[in-house]
Amino acid sequence: MHEKLSAIYDNVLRRNPGEIEFHQAVREVLESIGPVLGKHPEYAESKIIERICEPERQIIFRVPWEDDQGEVQINRGFRVEFNSALGPYKGGLRFHPSVYLGIVKFLGFEQIFKNGLTGLPIGGGKGGSDFDPKGRSEREVMRFCQSFMTELYRHIGEYTDVPAGDIGVGQREVGFLFGQYKRITNRYESGVITGKGLSYGGAQVRTEATGYGCTFFVEEMLKARGTSFDGKRVVVSGAGNVAIYTIEKVAQLGGVVVACSDSSGYVLDEGGIDVALLKQVKQVERGRLDSYAKRRGGEAVFVPGRSVWEVSCEVAMPSATQNEITGRDAETLVRGGCVAVGEGANMPTTPEGVRVFQEAGVAFGPGKAANAGGVATSALEMQQNASRDSWSFEYSEQRLRDIMTDIHTRCLATADEYGMPGDYVAGANIDGFRRVADAMLALGLV
Ligand code: GLU
Repeated sequence: MHEKLSAIYDNVLRRNPGEIEFHQAVREVLESIGPVLGKHPEYAESKIIERICEPERQIIFRVPWEDDQGEVQINRGFRVEFNSALGPYKGGLRFHPSVYLGIVKFLGFEQIFKNGLTGLPIGGGKGGSDFDPKGRSEREVMRFCQSFMTELYRHIGEYTDVPAGDIGVGQREVGFLFGQYKRITNRYESGVITGKGLSYGGAQVRTEATGYGCTFFVEEMLKARGTSFDGKRVVVSGAGNVAIYTIEKVAQLGGVVVACSDSSGYVLDEGGIDVALLKQVKQVERGRLDSYAKRRGGEAVFVPGRSVWEVSCEVAMPSATQNEITGRDAETLVRGGCVAVGEGANMPTTPEGVRVFQEAGVAFGPGKAANAGGVATSALEMQQNASRDSWSFEYSEQRLRDIMTDIHTRCLATADEYGMPGDYVAGANIDGFRRVADAMLALGLV
């Protein structure tokens, strides 16, 4: 790492003790932007990097609620408003027991550059809670969401901060959150949250956007290497929103997704995952993958407690959670013939894993670029809400496709400009960083 950046990084470590995921996310960006500082001394003079690493505002709050047994439960809520140089803070809410400040800050930090890369007017933020939705009734989830919003509402707004979903927060939760916001404020402010249902201000393709967008990005990477999804063997990790719509789009483009996973294990289905059945099991019944394998019959097998990355494939699309591909997993994948990786989740590959893929010449699309379709389509939802309009599915999907193609082109062009051809990590970090840095310079010391 560049000497000046290394000193900044040491300071980040000192000022944010124990927040290891945040450290990892900062390090990855700082390792990429060294060459930019040579070309742009004005960034260092204005301490842009030090400023970017410090959130504009961090909110931590108590979330009390009552479970179905009448017992009081207390969770912790977070919203980190990281950077508003390009637009209102924008980023999802994650409800998962692993959530603490370090996770929210890593996600919020990544979101700044991801959102910058989309070219749309959105700043970076993220929030969530250590609430565990697993095993909770719909009523409990509703009461939790209502309590969460009872504090959050005063911090958000169409022009201030616009949350959405992430792990554990889908359309159902967004509905409960929006309902409570509307009730407290007496305002039907559709643009205050995205990922809404179609019946109350949601946008076509938002549900599908992260998975579809990631697939479009990988399609572009394959195209750049003179190939396509057609007939390719693909492994997708996860079985949530991102994984499901990745599997759907890969199949539409001619790829064969042979495996996907959840926290209980993975399912191997050589005939290609049946998306309709997967949706039924995971979305409608909120069940586990062993149930998929049982009902699918034929060759499908459920493999409990093992990593899906032991399944060989040509394309890997990690769509579960952070640090799910270790250096060793990456080596296994490369040995098994993997030629392309598209990160549907945020930071699913460890730094060692990224190194293994890049040294092996694998086309590696980092989350900031590859999964930006979700938040980009959220920006389109905001645009439709602001103009009280709603677009067709076909038009919205075309917009998403154009955005992903454009991000792919800019990653490659930026990597070329800095003498690192084919390095999507450098391209994404540098392009996202420059956009935010230029806006921060223009706005003065704020
Ligand atoms: N949670 C998603 C992400 O990681 C979407 C955020 C949004 O739509 O605001 O980008």
